[in-house]
Amino acid sequence: MRRRWRRSAADDILSQGKQTQTPYSKREGGIRLAPAHHFGMRPMTSPLLLSPSPCRLLRRLFSRAPRRRNPTTPRPLGRRLPASMSSSSARAPDSVVADADALARKVAAIRAAGPAKLQVIADFDGTLTRYWYDGSRGQSSHGLLRQGNEEFDAKREALFEHYHPIEINPDIPLLEKAKLMEEWWGKTHGLLIEGGLTQNAIKKSVADAAIAFRDGVVELFEFLEARDIPVLVFSAGLADIIEEVFRQKLHRSFKNIKIVSNRMVFNEEGSLVAFKGKTIHVLNKNEHSLDMAAPVHDSLGDPNGSIDDYSLVKKRTNVLLLGDHIGDLGMSDGLNYENRIAAGFLNTNIEKSLKDYSKAFDIVYLNDVSMRGVVELVSDLCP
Ligand SMILES: [Mg+2]
Repeated sequence: MRRRWRRSAADDILSQGKQTQTPYSKREGGIRLAPAHHFGMRPMTSPLLLSPSPCRLLRRLFSRAPRRRNPTTPRPLGRRLPASMSSSSARAPDSVVADADALARKVAAIRAAGPAKLQVIADFDGTLTRYWYDGSRGQSSHGLLRQGNEEFDAKREALFEHYHPIEINPDIPLLEKAKLMEEWWGKTHGLLIEGGLTQNAIKKSVADAAIAFRDGVVELFEFLEARDIPVLVFSAGLADIIEEVFRQKLHRSFKNIKIVSNRMVFNEEGSLVAFKGKTIHVLNKNEHSLDMAAPVHDSLGDPNGSIDDYSLVKKRTNVLLLGDHIGDLGMSDGLNYENRIAAGFLNTNIEKSLKDYSKAFDIVYLNDVSMRGVVELVSDLCP
């Protein structure tokens, strides 16, 4: 049966190009890179049909509650929660879908197009990595960095004290704030160079860091690698640190993964001397051409070389986007996609932010859950 297409709440918001701000207030020592939100996306471009043989996700979505023509209340999927979660949150659902019809259409369309048309774009901090680590806020790829020079660590901390309040201040106009964020990133990068950051300091910082991938990330990467589906990890952090986290925490490389982030240049002695290309900060993730990507496996020494040429990646017109801030939706701005499923991890301030997240993302994972829901989703997209 052909279903009449209607715009989802997320499409409405995105097509209006609204900007929102959600404060990110947790500190973990050192600089915090806290996304403020900036997005303006295209709506879906054509009506879609429901699959004649609904996949597991669709069956679950449509078996829970009657379909609503204008859903306004996020709909919990009601999966079981991991045992590690608190007793109070264990009664809550761990994922929410505001518009099951819209998600079902996207799943069906992506599934029908096949894995050759699909790519995954993922934020790193708080998305691939856990928000909580041993009961405390986990560290970000920037926040974990210790230069091995207390004076410069303190200077970066002072920058955080100055710029972070600006970053989370919703009253500062976006353009002005973007300029200040660029200033912050520039000064921070300058201190890293001036303070003589070394590759060894990065290795030690990662080894000492409170950072961990979500359970199920390896399973997700393996699933996607087996189907030659590229994964673009897009971060306003530091590519060299993210690669070191991959190296130390996963102990393996994936030929389908590329990192788009701020990339360092080291001299022969292993000291930082420059950064490559334009700075990616929290407010311009959407502006950056994807040609900053460099395969993770290159720096990990994988001899098997290349994945798809990047022009081929651009031809993959179906996107699964993973993020933990609404601003992460901008990561797919450079792509002329046909269908995009946005999956959001709402790690904190759930009551306050769920409404916005469930409008912006097709599916919202709550309470810092594992990546297994996404594994299940990609299994439905690529059966
Ligand atoms: Mg993040």
